[in-house]
Amino acid sequence: MEKGLLVVISGPAGSGKGTVIAELLKSEDFVYSVSATTRAPRPGEVHGKNYYFITKEEFQQRIDAGEMLEYTCYCQNFYGTPLREALAVMESGKNLILEIEVEGAMNVKRLYPESVLIMLLPPSFSVQEARLRGRGTETEEVIQARLTRTREEVALVGEYDYIVYNHQGGAAACAEDIRAAVRADRCAIRRHPDAEKLYFED
Ligand code: 5GP
Repeated sequence: MEKGLLVVISGPAGSGKGTVIAELLKSEDFVYSVSATTRAPRPGEVHGKNYYFITKEEFQQRIDAGEMLEYTCYCQNFYGTPLREALAVMESGKNLILEIEVEGAMNVKRLYPESVLIMLLPPSFSVQEARLRGRGTETEEVIQARLTRTREEVALVGEYDYIVYNHQGGAAACAEDIRAAVRADRCAIRRHPDAEKLYFED
């Protein structure tokens, strides 16, 4: 059976990642990778669903044991992708979605060049800023920090394979673009180096 792909989705604050990924997960061939983190759960977050909440010691043990596909330190907390679960999903033929920040994405690209990197963006920086302010959930300081971070994130867009713009209310359209990109990428000739040999072997 053909293996599933490792699909990395990054996007700055206000890009609507959560909604788009929820839409994507309506298709059975996509599975969300639940990360491990050392940060405290936020209200409503469930262990094993949003994250595996573990201590710094446990996290370090998992790194030492080679159990993390990738990991990063973000705002003084560790975040990482459990390796065994990731491999099992891809072996089953399903595509694994990693919702991770840009540094993690660059690590994944280095370790697994065959992964597919997708950057989700609001239509423009000014729309993003308006959306962040419109949410009214963050302080001005947090908004500024996220907008500053956005410049660093978007600076790496050239390292990604696909870019998807999230227009107003467009989560379903974004999910469709991502499905199409992944479907096309599965047919890429570089993924089938033995096509000729296998064709005549059967
Ligand atoms: P938050 O604390 O807001 O849930 O996540 C903070 C950042 O960490 C987000 O940009 C999120 O995408 C990223 N993140 C979550 N899980 C992982 C992971 O397993 N690896 C990496 N590299 N980043 C992650």
